[in-house]
Amino acid sequence: MSQPILYAPMAYARYEASQTLPEKFTRLLKRSGLADRVKGKHVAIKMHVGSGVSYSTIPPVFVRKLVDFVQSHGGKPFITDHYVAGRHPEQRGYTEHNLGCPILEGCGHLGKYFYAKPVDYKTFRHVDIAGLIHDADVLINFSHVKGHGSCGFGGACKNIAMGCVTDRTRHEIHGLEGGLVWDADKCTHCGKCITACNHDANSFSKPGKDGVYEVNYHHCTLCQHCVKICPTGAITLDSHNYTDFQTGMALCTKTVLDTFAPEDIYHINVLTAITALCDCWGMTTPSLVPDIGIMAGPDIVAVERASLDAIRIEDLIPVGVPQGRALSGSGHLFQQLHGKDPFVQLDKLEEAGLGSQDYKLVTVK
Ligand code: SF4
Ligand code: SF4
Repeated sequence: MSQPILYAPMAYARYEASQTLPEKFTRLLKRSGLADRVKGKHVAIKMHVGSGVSYSTIPPVFVRKLVDFVQSHGGKPFITDHYVAGRHPEQRGYTEHNLGCPILEGCGHLGKYFYAKPVDYKTFRHVDIAGLIHDADVLINFSHVKGHGSCGFGGACKNIAMGCVTDRTRHEIHGLEGGLVWDADKCTHCGKCITACNHDANSFSKPGKDGVYEVNYHHCTLCQHCVKICPTGAITLDSHNYTDFQTGMALCTKTVLDTFAPEDIYHINVLTAITALCDCWGMTTPSLVPDIGIMAGPDIVAVERASLDAIRIEDLIPVGVPQGRALSGSGHLFQQLHGKDPFVQLDKLEEAGLGSQDYKLVTVK
């Protein structure tokens, strides 16, 4: 059976505030069923508070709408993310005064408050669930959708798998990535691959002939500049399409969501300022496509699928792609940009039993 996804579109017919996305968001929330679930409950609103000079995370006006809605129905909301203090959310307008509720570090101020759950997938062993998220009664997964260098795109799954856990878990998932393969026998240590990288993602472990090529996959976009510039073919791209990383993301997401009753989870994807890279880069590049709107529902797979389907290569805004970068020409826009099939993440979520990619849009006018 198709999962209904509430969809508040950007498109408008008249010059009226009621036609704009914040007002449609309010109407979407009224139809969400959340009003009946939050009374007397501690409600964790998980979002990305951005960092640096980014201005593409969910605008405060939408966060305030959600907080007001939860409070008006008797809920006790709090905003949560990781690295909150270091990210200075106040610089992007995220303050308790503006949003109407506290903004809390999910793992506590010292980052040591978590619940460890075992998993067993290759080298991935620990899902350390942020304590405040684990302890909450209701989870509203409030995600900004954008591209992501490691998994093609970041939305609801990424907001949980990378955002509701500790550094140990993030590192274990990133450890599944694979990606670039370096052949020491072919390397002449000319250094061209290092200067070709625009993301400070690669380095040698030490100067001289004994240095080992290392890649920080949190920063690497798999642009392949290093692959292409290497005069000896010492760097190649492996071919497993990051399936392990996306499998790890899905397993982590399932482990976090399993701590809640299904009716106490709700996913809201905000499709505005859809940029090439994750919000954690601390910057905002031009949008890849026009703003789309908001998708929401209790089925994370359906929400993600509806979001991906709405981001179409036909709507590409060329300035959103870095100058000089050619798209590959086949597959989803994010696949053409990052070299990874974003639908693999959805397949893994579906295999984990978290929902269905079969959805139908219910437009909120
Ligand atoms: S460009 Fe190739 S040969 Fe030169 S340092 Fe990098 S990997 Fe080695
Ligand atoms: S693929 Fe691109 S981002 Fe990654 S290390 Fe090579 S040059 Fe840097």
